[in-house]
Formats: sequence, C-alpha cells, structure tokens
Amino acid sequence: MEEKKIPYKIYLSEDEMPKAWYNVRADMTNKPAPLLDGKTMQPITAEELGKVFCEELVQQELDDTTAWFEIPEEIRNFYKMYRPSPLVRAYCLEEKLQTPAHIYYKFEGNNTSGSHKLNSAIAQAYYAKRQGLKGVTTETGAGQWGTALSMACAYLGLDCNVYMVRCSYEQKPFRREVMRTYGAHVTPSPSDTTAVGRKILEQFPGTSGSLGCAISEAVEAATSKEGYRYVLGSVLSQVLLHQTIIGLETQTALRKYDIKPDMIIGCAGGGSNVGGLFAPFAGEMLRGEANYQLIAVEPVSCPSLSRGVYRYDYCDTGAICPLQKMYTLGNGFIPAASHSGGLRYHGMSSIVSQLYDDGLIEARSVAQTDVFAAAQEFAKCEGILPAPESSHAIRVAMDEAIKCRETGEAKTIVFGLTGTGYFDMMAYGKHNDGAMTDYVPTDEELQRGFDSIPKFPGNE
Ligand SMILES: *Cc1c(COP(=O)(O)O)cnc(C)c1O
Repeated sequence: MEEKKIPYKIYLSEDEMPKAWYNVRADMTNKPAPLLDGKTMQPITAEELGKVFCEELVQQELDDTTAWFEIPEEIRNFYKMYRPSPLVRAYCLEEKLQTPAHIYYKFEGNNTSGSHKLNSAIAQAYYAKRQGLKGVTTETGAGQWGTALSMACAYLGLDCNVYMVRCSYEQKPFRREVMRTYGAHVTPSPSDTTAVGRKILEQFPGTSGSLGCAISEAVEAATSKEGYRYVLGSVLSQVLLHQTIIGLETQTALRKYDIKPDMIIGCAGGGSNVGGLFAPFAGEMLRGEANYQLIAVEPVSCPSLSRGVYRYDYCDTGAICPLQKMYTLGNGFIPAASHSGGLRYHGMSSIVSQLYDDGLIEARSVAQTDVFAAAQEFAKCEGILPAPESSHAIRVAMDEAIKCRETGEAKTIVFGLTGTGYFDMMAYGKHNDGAMTDYVPTDEELQRGFDSIPKFPGNE
C-alpha cells in the first residue's frame, strides 16, 4: 500500500471539530473514587458542590456514566477562533535527531493565553453565564489560568476576579497586565478584601503569599457575594472533560492519514491536558479496541505519580476544596525553590490517577536542566518557543526518538505541546546562564509532605 504523504501540519476543517467532549469515566471499570465532603467525610452532594461551583459543571463533575457531553454551540463558535489546533509532523526535529521515528505534536499554544487552558476557561465561563451569574473568582500563580479565564470572561461579558499570588503579582507584571487588559480585576493575595486574607496578613505581615492562600480568598469571595462562583483551571474531572477536545482532534487528525501511534506523551501538572489528550485513546484501550503506550511526564522535583501515594487528600493547601482520591505528595508539599520549570502541583486528576493505578498510563519524571535543554533544541528546529511545562513532554519524546535511532525502530510518537514560553524568560535566562539546577527531594522530605495528608479510617 502506498503511504500517503503527510503534510507538516495536519489541519482539520471546522466540520471535523468534535461536537461533544468525551467522558472517559463512562468506559472505566474502576471509576475514580467519589469526592468527599471535608466536614462529613461522606461523598459530596451536588447541593454542597453547587454552593461553590456552577450547577452544570457540578453535574459534569459528578457524572461517571455519560460518555459524551455535547459542546454547546456558543463554545464551539469560540473554539473556532483558535481551533482546530494543528497536529504537526516534527520533520525538522526528526531530521535533527537522525531518528527513524515519526514524531507528531498537538500544538495548543496558538491563542493569546498561550496554552490549552482556554479550552476549559471558555466552557466554565459559559456555564456561569448561562446560570445567570454576574461573575467568577479564581486564583492564579504564574498567571496562565488567570489569563485564559480573563479572555473567556471578556468574550461573554462576565466579571472576572483573579487572586494572584502576591510575589507573582509583583515579579511577573506581564501576565497581570494581560489579565487587566481583558478587563479582569486582579488582586494580589493575601489581600484585605477577604476575611481570610486579612487574617493571614495579620498573622504574617509582609508575606509574599501562596497558591493555597489565593484559593482560600477566591473561594471566600465567590461564596460571600451574590451571583458569583469559583472556578478552577486543572485537577477536576470537569476540566479534564473539556480538555478532551485535544485528544479527540488528535484522534481525528491521525485517522485522516491512517496513522497509528505507538506512544502518546503529555506533561502532567494537575493532569488536565494529559488526561484530555489521553482520554479517547485510553477509551479505545478500555474497550479493547487498541493498545498504546501512554506516558505522563512530571518534574523530578514534584513527582506526584512516580513517587506519590494514592490517597484522599485536599486539592488545595487551604483544605477548603473537597477531598479527592489521587496520587499526591501531600497538600503541604512545596517543591524546592530552585524549581522554575512549572508543573508544581502536589496532586493529580482523579481520572489520571485511577488510570495510572490500573496500569493504563505510565509515568516518567525528568530533571529541569534536561527539560530546558530539550526546549532549546526544539525551539531551534521547530520554530516554536515552548512553555517549560510542555517541554517535559518534548524531553521524553526526544529520548524515545533517540532510542529508536539506536534500535532502528520506526515508532510513531505523538506528544502534547501545551503552550508557548514567552512569559517564562526568567527561567530560560537561568538556563542560558547555566545557572539552572536540579533538585530531587529526599524520602524524608517527601515523608513530610505525606504527613500533611488527612488521616482517617481507610486512608492510611
Ligand atoms: C497549566 C499548564 C500545564 C499543566 O496543567 P495540567 O492541568 O496538568 O494540564 C501544562 N502546560 C502549560 C503550558 C500550562 O499552562
């Protein structure tokens, strides 16, 4: 059979874009464990969750049997501004690596927010709007999520309140200003606008803030104001659901050219992009239709899957969100200060965690010096300056392609390129100065994180 010539970029037409998100939980025999109410330790009810999150999103969060959720037309129209995203054949990288492997990447950085996060931001903002809410609140660290949410809220005319960790607010003014340009209210956290913020400021005057503290403020702001709800950019199953647009488009693009991937690789922070990329392929595996090697890549300095434990833990340091069963390093785990390569989250999506526990997904951890070396090599030949987070996947894709050079195997490798790195030039600067270091946490340090996991019967 004659091989079809594969273009550098495989684009889909608008008609070929997915019309529904895929809920992989429907095909899982072992479902992720239910979220627990932190007060009663019982599975959380839709009513309780609805006090914090939008109604429709609560339904999506709790539903583990409906396989397909139709994407509302208004969201599909928004997607059309920057999607379908291209699946790129990395011919130049293959040439540079002198590998017989075929490498493809799904590029999600083609929008102003610079990452895949917009895929879920628009969905969450849409459901808030449809519920008749005035606005949403959230937290942001470096600012990727806050930027995506600001864009989505601006489009829909929804008020957007972002609590930004104070040190990032001061040291990373660029994303802050993108958010403000899109009309978001950005408050450095801790602030005197919430009771929890005032309490923290009283206890620790001059503190530079933390993500846990910003979450606490965002949740308080949402629950104490009429017409507001809280939204989150990763970890939750609803976010992973929205991100399946990545995997579904990838699957369609591959099928168009009869390409059968051997391995699919993605970077894992809270697990939303990697889960969304893997989901349709994991679905094929769960239904016994195909087999793939699915590899989730994380930093050695924050190895939730590869060195974490599978327990119920809080999604946030402030212990405000419900308890989720997941691979975790403990809500009190803080990655080393020398870590600037992103993906700093202590836990992992419950769906990704369960698939990993069941052996459908593998995990690899990589050192940030190797990650930035891969990022630079990739940037030089593929013309995209990748986000440090995405570069974890690039590293492993390159390693696998190099293995193919050694064994002579022509494997087909697909990886997720989640975003661009224009706002990460401080980290690139460290790499360029040769000042970047690696840190592997000791077992004792990990133990201190594990000690912060709540203890109750069945969770030891
Ligand atoms: C936030 C982010 C990630 C990690 O988040 P997940 O929820 O694990 O997908 C990866 N890449 C980029 C560019 C990001 O902004």
